[in-house]
Amino acid sequence: MATNGKKIVIIGGGIAGLCTAVYALKCGYEVEILEMHDMTGGLAMSWSRAGYTFETCLHWLVGSNPNGDMHSLWQEVCDIDRLTFINPKEFARIENDNGERLSMYTNVELLESELLNHAPADAAAIRDFTRSVRTLGKFRMLDPSGGLADNWLNLLRDIPVFPLLGKLSKMSGADYGNRFADPLLRAFFSSGDVGKLSAIAMVLSLGWMNIGNAGYCIGGSQALIRLIEEKIRALGGCIRFKSKAERILVENHAAVGVQIAGGEIIKADWVISAADGRSTIFGMLGGKYIDHAIQDIYEKRERFASYIQVSLGVARDLHDQPHALTRILNSPIKVDPGTEAAFVGFRFFHFDPTFAPAGKTAVTCMLPTRNFEYWDELRHRDIRLYRDEKQRVADAVIGVLEKIIPGVRAAIEVIDVSTPATVARYTGNWQGSMEGWLVCPGQSFRPFPNTLPGLRKFMMVGQWVMPGGGLPSGLMTSKPAIKAICRHDRVPFHLHAGQPELVGV
Ligand SMILES: Cc1cc2nc3c(=O)[nH]c(=O)nc-3n(C[C@H](O)[C@H](O)[C@H](O)COP(=O)(O)OP(=O)(O)OC[C@H]3O[C@@H](n4cnc5c(N)ncnc54)[C@H](O)[C@@H]3O)c2cc1C
Repeated sequence: MATNGKKIVIIGGGIAGLCTAVYALKCGYEVEILEMHDMTGGLAMSWSRAGYTFETCLHWLVGSNPNGDMHSLWQEVCDIDRLTFINPKEFARIENDNGERLSMYTNVELLESELLNHAPADAAAIRDFTRSVRTLGKFRMLDPSGGLADNWLNLLRDIPVFPLLGKLSKMSGADYGNRFADPLLRAFFSSGDVGKLSAIAMVLSLGWMNIGNAGYCIGGSQALIRLIEEKIRALGGCIRFKSKAERILVENHAAVGVQIAGGEIIKADWVISAADGRSTIFGMLGGKYIDHAIQDIYEKRERFASYIQVSLGVARDLHDQPHALTRILNSPIKVDPGTEAAFVGFRFFHFDPTFAPAGKTAVTCMLPTRNFEYWDELRHRDIRLYRDEKQRVADAVIGVLEKIIPGVRAAIEVIDVSTPATVARYTGNWQGSMEGWLVCPGQSFRPFPNTLPGLRKFMMVGQWVMPGGGLPSGLMTSKPAIKAICRHDRVPFHLHAGQPELVGV
């Protein structure tokens, strides 16, 4: 492709860095992505062990439905229609040690009848909940890169939804769960960070699932990443692996390049960081370009927890299990000092044939923890004890699984445990956070500014500038960043390489 003579260096090859690269390449920029790992994806990751693939990220992708919201945005960065999406009938099953069980269906009619059947005393709250799921399914996302002219139709369509969004934005998931007397329903809304998040997050996600616009793609998150990477290569972009950015070079308060580990300097007209926000602002830029608002965010704002992931390769067909199962325990599991798991969530990947040989099943279990220091310090201090601790947690998880599927222990042929230290090592995210900033009641999902005060030719994209995170945060922060750069450089913003579509030049 003909370039416009300007170069952008992007730090980080997670979803945000990759989406940014595609938009930049389409506008004629020379693009070099610096990725510290040996593959792209960041948190959108899976890994293979002895014939099994263990997914860490993808539960649902907003924009999976060809007729749904955000699908056309994904089409701008990759050929998303080549992915095969499935929409599970049962999003999650919740059960407890006493044998009680509840199915959270994706179809709202099924969901309503299941909940009414299970907890008739909660009928009024259940009907209010399913009405909200139906209503929020109609919510149209606004294009954060567009102005009023691009968004007015969606804004008009959203007007009837605003009062409900306003009401839910003031409640946490746990507050929402408290509207139900039934303990399983309460647990669904209040477990882990879901309980801290604004209630919008879960109800809106169920709204998208109900209209089939939050599916799972076969191959998991890496299937999506591979498509975007393919697009970057087709457009002539360059991805440099094992290239950790250490310093963003600044001259006259403008970013001019990046120094990577080993000392090499890569010059550029623009630097975009798609990496962890804290290490970008306070590490690579030495904390020189901040104001009170930024300081406040990084000192006070709450982040999503990190997690231990126990992944199991089970030499058994587990099709009789749901896609996802949360087991509420009578006796909590000790995860680490200060963290107990009162519930354990399993995912049975029988629905993805690429993840295990025929007749076998990849199973994962995520245990949230905020005790990053413990795992990181232990790994550095005593690697044998670190491994023993991982084994201890794995044994506890397998003990729970054995209660759910008697005899399963004997069929487990692969055990893999990752910790918050693993997440931080492989993605650079602060304390191994799984999704960036939490959006608590009263806080907004609106993106933070993508520039830093006093610094020119620099932008940030990704989950650290879009509270709530998620794969769409990569897509939705990359387009406005490249649009702004194009506007500054007086370069036409092209949505389709070779077919100029001028926006805001
Ligand atoms: C367990 C889990 C479940 C999730 N489920 C979902 C889901 O179902 N749906 C959904 O939409 N989202 C989900 N998410 C969230 C989603 O994965 C993230 O929000 C998203 O992938 C973040 O993308 P990012 O590009 O902003 O950041 P990251 O993925 O963190 O990418 C940052 C990249 O920068 C690289 N990097 C960092 N520092 C440097 C440096 N100094 N030099 C060079 N490279 C560097 C890292 O290696 C990484 O590749 C989930 C996340 C987790 C962990």
